[in-house]
Amino acid sequence: MKLPFPYTLKRSARRKRLAITIADGKVVVAIPAKMSAKQALAFIQEKRGWVEEKLAWQLEKKAQTPAFTFQEGDQFSYLGERYGLQVELGSEDVALVGNMIKVVTTNDEPQGVRQRLLHWYYHRAQAYMTQRIAYFSPCLGVPSPSFVGVKHYKSRWGVCYEDGRIFFHWGLMMAPAWVVDDVIVHELAHLQHMNHSKDFWALVATVSPDYKASTQWLKEHGSFLNF
Ligand SMILES: [Zn+2]
Repeated sequence: MKLPFPYTLKRSARRKRLAITIADGKVVVAIPAKMSAKQALAFIQEKRGWVEEKLAWQLEKKAQTPAFTFQEGDQFSYLGERYGLQVELGSEDVALVGNMIKVVTTNDEPQGVRQRLLHWYYHRAQAYMTQRIAYFSPCLGVPSPSFVGVKHYKSRWGVCYEDGRIFFHWGLMMAPAWVVDDVIVHELAHLQHMNHSKDFWALVATVSPDYKASTQWLKEHGSFLNF
C-alpha cells in the first residue's frame, strides 16, 4: 500500500524502536538496522493519521507566520499597530515616524536590520513593562517586582519567580496594548498568589475582567509575535 506522503528511512544500529519525526514538512523514519522496509511501512501505515495531521498543522503554521525579509515592504507591529519598514544607512537608530518604522543601521543587510529591530523591541519592552508595572502594582495591591526583565521565550509570555523577579517575552510588544496589559497583570498577580488558584484569578479579574479574551488572542496570534 502506498502512503500519501513521502518519507525517508534512516537505519541505525543503535536504535531499538522505530521513531517518526516530522520537521519542515519532511517525514523521517528512524528504524533499527534489522527492521525490514516492509515492517517499517506497516508501522508508518498505522501512524498515518497522526503524521498527516502533524504535516497539515506544520503547513498551516508556516502559512500563518509572516515571512519577514527585513527589507522595505515588510510590516512590523508595535502595540498592535502596523508600521511599514524603512531602512537607511547611518548610525544605529530605530524610530516610529508616522506609519513607518525607520531603521537606521550601519548594516542594511536583512540580518543587520533584523538585529537592530530585535534590539529595539527588547529596549521598548523593558521601558514599557517597567512603566506599566508601576501603574498596575498599586491597582492590584501587590508589591513591586524585585526585578523586571525581557527575554526570548519559545512558549510563554511571562514568568514570575518566587523571589519577585518578573520576565516578559519581547515579542509581546507586537501585540495590542490591552493584551500586553493582561499579561502584565497576570504576572503581577503571581506576586500575591504563586499559583493559578481561584483566588489568583479573582485578583486578576479585578483589573483584567476580560483576561480570557487576551488569552484567546494570544492563542490565535501568538505565532506572529516573533521573528
Ligand atoms: Zn501564571
